[in-house]
Amino acid sequence: MSLDSIPKDLRQLRACLNCSLIKSIDQFEGDGCDNCEEFLRMKNDREKVYDCTSNNFDGMIALMSPEDSWVAKWQRINRFTKGIYAISVAGRLPGTIVRDMKSRGALYRTRDTSSR
Ligand SMILES: [Zn+2]
Repeated sequence: MSLDSIPKDLRQLRACLNCSLIKSIDQFEGDGCDNCEEFLRMKNDREKVYDCTSNNFDGMIALMSPEDSWVAKWQRINRFTKGIYAISVAGRLPGTIVRDMKSRGALYRTRDTSSR
């Protein structure tokens, strides 16, 4: 697996609002999101990283074998790359990005489950 998708630094961690992957803000800015870069294009765009990730998240899951993990299925992350994921992420993607994803056939569902 790629070590680049594991948080390097416990400070300034943020979780992607679309897939809940947790990385440091510098990693999101440097590499984008390992799952959503195609839609979110955070690479080299710190503004975008702030828009598309949240520092307000709960719980952490280390995803090692997405294909056969029921936790991964439950969290709807079984098709994602290995890494550290949040259980719940507070916040929503900006409307413009959600519309853009929709036009590419991707469905956005909020990762915020804290109120349920
Ligand atoms: Zn993502």
